[in-house]
Order: sequence, then structure tokens, then C-alpha cells
Amino acid sequence: MAFLEIKNISKKYRGRYALKNINLSIEKGEILSIAGPPGSGKTTLLKIVAGLVKPDEGSIVLEGRDITDTPPHLRGISMVFEIPPVYPDRTGYDNIAFPLRLKGLPENEIKKRVYEVAELLGIKHILHRKPETFSGGEYQRVALARALVTNPTLLLLDEPLKSLDAKIREQMSIWLKELQRKIGVTAIYTTHDPLEAFTVGTRTAILIGGEIKQIGDPIDILEKPSMLEVDEYVSIPALNIFTGRVELEDDKLKVIINNVFLEKVIDKTLRERIESGKEYIIALRPSDIKVSTSPSPHSFQGRVLLVQYLGSRTLASIEVNETTIRAILPRGLRVGEGDIVYVELDVDRMRIYDPDSKIRIA
Ligand code: ADP
Ligand code: MG
Repeated sequence: MAFLEIKNISKKYRGRYALKNINLSIEKGEILSIAGPPGSGKTTLLKIVAGLVKPDEGSIVLEGRDITDTPPHLRGISMVFEIPPVYPDRTGYDNIAFPLRLKGLPENEIKKRVYEVAELLGIKHILHRKPETFSGGEYQRVALARALVTNPTLLLLDEPLKSLDAKIREQMSIWLKELQRKIGVTAIYTTHDPLEAFTVGTRTAILIGGEIKQIGDPIDILEKPSMLEVDEYVSIPALNIFTGRVELEDDKLKVIINNVFLEKVIDKTLRERIESGKEYIIALRPSDIKVSTSPSPHSFQGRVLLVQYLGSRTLASIEVNETTIRAILPRGLRVGEGDIVYVELDVDRMRIYDPDSKIRIA
């Protein structure tokens, strides 16, 4: 039996599902990431686990015990919110000590625990300071320290890094993962950023529209998205999505997107899943498209519409036969708007989705 089991949880607000039939299990010492766009139900799910919101259906089982009707303070669960309420008139020390004082622990025991957790989180230097002097990262670590100081059986982290800027967020996500390894706490971590979820979690669940669409490790999810929605959500920069007619010829699969022909040698299992002559949704990431200034046997001529700089990578929007294709430019290639380039689509990385169900076929 898993450490925590979330069983068939559903919750409706004003007749609409905020969560629909959620099933998840978490092993002891694991950090499960839940990634989903805003409004997908992340906070609602954590609040249900914490006991702050009552589900319409389903149950929560912690260490074999059904806690669905257990009041929050008796669950042994700590939750850190997106904007954690840190008391402005109290020092870092008093903020962290707060839950222990509520429990009526002796002051010497409180002091020992606060210093231990402050040492662990690298915030000893701010214990005597008031929150107004904290940086964003320090503020978040004080909130985390306050959640950890009670030794919770389960830690719920609801987008704890959302308010921090990108660089600190990246640092903090790596650091969180290391911390979790060190102290072995079991945690659920939510974020709207799939890449952050992949960094922090041992596994990631993708929550879209109140439903779990896929659970797995980053490679599974990035390489084999279960459906188009997941592919679109995890693809950064945005996915190229085309409609293409697919034809089967001997051992070849031909995809025709606006007069652009792509060919791929396929195996038998794929042949059985594809109907020749039918239109499918074809998805390719910008990194799966090669751009060059000279033609090659399988390339198509295009014209650069727009160049965007994304830090370490450059993205170009290229018009090929009236279709706009977004591609990551190879390092060192300098092109500008209006330039003629040649693009080659990596057919082995092309994903084919059913046009109706949007489920991945290949
Ligand atoms: P997330 O944390 O992923 O952004 P939430 O769990 O906050 O998503 O919200 C999921 C959905 O439920 C949203 O459509 C939101 O508007 C709705 N919702 C959440 N809490 C309430 C509430 N107390 N009353 C009405 N609707 C709510
Ligand atoms: Mg939320």
C-alpha cells in the first residue's frame, strides 16, 4: 500500500468540475510534482489532502488510515501556500516557532528545533530580522521552515516559488530537490511550470482541466505525451501543430502538409493504427526542425518572418508553402527577417494525433 492514496476524488464548484476522478498514490520519501496551467485544480487538490476543502466524492488514505473526515490539525500534514502568510510584526525566529508554541512545546525545545531547521534551510542569519527585510527567496524559506519545524508526515507545497523571479526560481527548485533528498520528507509539489515540476519531482502528474492526463518521469512525458493537450502544455517554446493527410505506401508513411511531403519508414504496428488517406494532427517541437542556409535532399525552402531571442536559444518563425513553422536555429546561424532558409522536419520526432480524440497514435 502506498504512503498516501488519493482515491476517486471529485469536487464541483457551481456545477463545474474543479477536480474529476483524481487517483494518485505517493510512496514514502517521494516528491510528487503536479504540473498544470492556472485554474487546473492544483490548489483545490492540495486543500482536499490537507483537509481545508471537503471533496464531493472520493477518499484520502494516509498510511493506511482513511483521513477524509479527519480535521486538518489532526492529519500531521503541513501546507505552504503560494503567498504564505508570514507575520510582518514577528521576527524570522518567532514566525518559525509559531506552530510549536501553538502546540505548547517548552521554549528550549522550540529553540533547538528552530535552529536546526534554520540551519538546514540556510536562514540562520535572518532569525532576528523582521519579514520586511527578507528577500523573496528568504521569505519563502521562512514559510518552508515553519512548515518543516513540526516534522510533518506529509508536506504540501502549493506553487511556493511562483512569486520569485526566474533565476531564483531555478536555483530554489534545485535546492528544494536536494533538501528533500537530504531530509527524506514525503511531499506533493505543485507548479504551473512543467519544467520546474520535472526538476523538483521524482515523478510528475499533469493536471489539466481538473483531470490527471498523464503521470511519469520527464522523459516519458516529454517524449511520449499521452495526448495533444499534454504535448502542448509541456512544449516550450510552443509546439508546431499541423493538419496533414497521411498515406501509407508499402513500408512508408507519407504525410502531406500543405504540399509539403514528409516520408517515414514505419513498422507494422503503426500501419495498423493509421488509416490511409485520412487527415491527422501532426505535432513537431521547434527543436525538431533543422534550419540551414543551403538546401539538402529533404529540405523545403522558406522565408524568415520573425526572429525571437530566448536567452541561450534563438527561435525563428519561417513561412514554408503558406504554413508558418517555428524552429530553433542552430548555434551560430544568423538570419534576419525576409531571408531565405531551408527547413528539414525530423520525421522520426514527428508525433501523430487522432483528429477526434486527440490521443497520440505515433
Ligand atoms: P489552480 O490552483 O490550479 O490554479 P484552483 O484549484 O485554484 O486551480 O481552481 C480550480 C478551479 O476551481 C478554478 O476554475 C477555480 O475558479 C475554481 N475554484 C476554486 N476554488 C473555488 C471556490 N472556493 N469557489 C468557486 N470556485 C472555485
Ligand atoms: Mg493554485
